Amino acid sequence: MNKLLIIFLLIISSNLFAQNRLEIIKIGNPTLRMIAEEIDHKRIESSEFQAFIDDMVFTMKKAGGVGLAAPQVDRSLRMFVMSSSFPKVPLKIVINPKIEYLENSGKKSSTEGCLSIPGKSLTVKRYKKIHLSYYNRKGEFISEELDGFGAIIAQHEYDHLNGVLIVDLVEQMQAIINGAGFTDAPLM
Ligand code: ZN
Repeated sequence: MNKLLIIFLLIISSNLFAQNRLEIIKIGNPTLRMIAEEIDHKRIESSEFQAFIDDMVFTMKKAGGVGLAAPQVDRSLRMFVMSSSFPKVPLKIVINPKIEYLENSGKKSSTEGCLSIPGKSLTVKRYKKIHLSYYNRKGEFISEELDGFGAIIAQHEYDHLNGVLIVDLVEQMQAIINGAGFTDAPLM
């Protein structure tokens, strides 16, 4: 009896905390080229959407990425997650973001991989500093300035929400130089 109860509880708890690894779609899939849809604020706190957030974070980490946008898992929604251990960028759940590019601080080169473009890394130009406003997973409005690696990831993921991929941003010569072979560029 006790054994059965323990097994029953184990099954229940493993289902409660189960996170699903979502399939990451690849370049060529039309979802990656769509303008993603805004998320209704009322939906953010639903258990379905909260579970989706957990699955996104789980999938990003399992894939060894520092960022993942909902269109990359075939959900055309304006949402992305980001997190990096080195350089340290705290986990952010970013819903319905708006980015203001702070042009006065200039641009810098950034070599990036994309989880939707296997085996390639490309060098693109990114703004050094941005202003990001969004809703977090509690539905709270956040407005902040980002610089460093966090600003880079946010720009890459924000592009995904607008159907833009790094292959669209790269200058032709850089694409030729960096297009082939494996590099250890961060995956986003
Ligand atoms: Zn990407």
